[in-house]
Amino acid sequence: MASDCLFCKIASGAIPVTRLYEDEQLLAFPDINPQAPVHILVIPRQHFASLAHTAPEDAGLIGHLLAAAAEIARQQNLAKGYRLVINTGNDGGQTVEHLHVHLLGGRHMGWPPG
Ligand code: AMP
Ligand code: ZN
Repeated sequence: MASDCLFCKIASGAIPVTRLYEDEQLLAFPDINPQAPVHILVIPRQHFASLAHTAPEDAGLIGHLLAAAAEIARQQNLAKGYRLVINTGNDGGQTVEHLHVHLLGGRHMGWPPG
């Protein structure tokens, strides 16, 4: 845990959130500033500053993040589709330096993204 990291504090329970899904490795909760009718963040409990800070041996955890996002999408009745986003680094628009997957749904998404 990184003591100054917002999402580590959420994962530890120091900052309370609505826990939509959790297991030993990850946690999902609503984004505080939703960009779609459904906007959920899925984070590993382990601190990684970004996807770029993971290593090949973290592939299992990364796969679990995506599989969990797909399961949460099913729970949220997003049968018409959804979008997963992993903003990475400054050019990627990342603002919170703890790896997270955005699950966005409930409206049609445009392309290209901004
Ligand atoms: P990113 O810009 O990809 O790093 O995404 C960070 C996301 O975290 C943004 O969509 C924020 O709205 C969201 N966020 C920041 N603080 C909180 C919080 N306390 N609870 C839930 N979501 C948050
Ligand atoms: Zn963290």
